[in-house]
Amino acid sequence: MQTFRFDPCRLPPEAEALRGEVRAFLSDALTDIPPVIRAQTWSGYDPEFSKKLGAKGWIGMTWPKKYGGHERSALERYVMLEEMLAAGAPVGAHWIGDRQSGQLLLKFGTEEQRQMILPKAAKGELLFCIGMSEPDSGSDLAATRTKAEKTDGGWIVNGTKLWTSNAHNAHYMIALFRTNFDPDNKHAGLTQFLVDLTIPGITIRPIKDLTGNAHFNEVVFEDVFVPDNMMVGSEGNGWMQVTAELAFERSGPERYLSSFLLLTELIRELGRTGDTSADAEIGRLVAHLVTLRQMSVSIAGLLEAGENPIQEASVVKDLGALYEQELPVKAHELAGVEPMLGTGSDYAQVLGFLTQASVSFSLRGGTREILRGIIARGLGLR
Ligand SMILES: Cc1cc2nc3c(=O)[nH]c(=O)nc-3n(C[C@H](O)[C@H](O)[C@H](O)COP(=O)(O)OP(=O)(O)OC[C@H]3O[C@@H](n4cnc5c(N)ncnc54)[C@H](O)[C@@H]3O)c2cc1C
Repeated sequence: MQTFRFDPCRLPPEAEALRGEVRAFLSDALTDIPPVIRAQTWSGYDPEFSKKLGAKGWIGMTWPKKYGGHERSALERYVMLEEMLAAGAPVGAHWIGDRQSGQLLLKFGTEEQRQMILPKAAKGELLFCIGMSEPDSGSDLAATRTKAEKTDGGWIVNGTKLWTSNAHNAHYMIALFRTNFDPDNKHAGLTQFLVDLTIPGITIRPIKDLTGNAHFNEVVFEDVFVPDNMMVGSEGNGWMQVTAELAFERSGPERYLSSFLLLTELIRELGRTGDTSADAEIGRLVAHLVTLRQMSVSIAGLLEAGENPIQEASVVKDLGALYEQELPVKAHELAGVEPMLGTGSDYAQVLGFLTQASVSFSLRGGTREILRGIIARGLGLR
């Protein structure tokens, strides 16, 4: 049977040196941000904060300098990201561009697209959203129906994208459209495009989630003209490209660190009462987190070595979602405080937000069942 690679990976001295710099920056930058806002971290939208990170050189850290990047290692980027998430920094505005859209353009984009987009994205001035899911096409992404039909100088797009995080704030969407339909091969005929969201014919409607926030949207395309030079990669190559993009999407530390603030707030809450009966349970939760981190750092090491650890990333994403869905339940049991939204103590509100939000952690970026299918294939079981 095949197995997974989780080689031990030690962070190099330059990455640990960067950690101190990031911590010092965050302790200033986040001073006045309340815990319930910090609990939103990866979905927290603050474009001014993103611009500050751009100025520090912490967006597009691994990209080539000629496109506004900084040519630093995947391990340095990892340390920066884990400090951001652990502190609850609002990274949602630039997160998608830094994590996947920039990487995708580096891999498949044209020189013109890279020069036009990447330097602004690295400054935190140009924001992306992901246009993959549709009303009848989430897990089954190959069922994409939004159609791009050839016309003079470009493509006419009609259809609907769904659950598009931050579409209402983004400048560009990297969208997967159907440019050809072959009933015998639905993975063929898909193509990616870089879509300027100010083009006429695009309507963006907010969707409220269980937390009461409207961070994602329905995006409707009605006879939208997308010029030829906005095609990303080659026509019909969308399935292969989107699979590569999902590998970037699934490999980050937000897959187990979205709720770190709840753990620290829980420990603070229990510390207030002086009750030590929860110590063993807290020890178990921390041990579990440390193990997930070792696995996640190991993935960063494989990325740094130029490998594509899609199976390992799926394991960490699935285990991370299980952990993060268990944490609010345990926190509720251990501290005996009811979760609240919009009112109550800081702790009750952090618990309230993450109780509602964590349900989605086993959906975003691919559902648990889909990931387990990928894992089974990796083990040679399917
Ligand atoms: C917080 C959040 C943010 C998101 N942001 C974006 C975004 O920015 N852009 C974007 O394009 N999408 C986004 N999504 C959408 C997300 O990718 C989809 O929700 C996800 O892929 C599942 O698709 P679906 O909702 O259509 O569910 P479905 O695919 O209909 O699945 C419903 C259920 O059936 C199960 N299922 C489906 N197929 C199989 C199968 N073959 N075998 C076993 N079980 C199966 C699933 O696991 C799931 O439990 C976001 C979702 C969330 C929750």
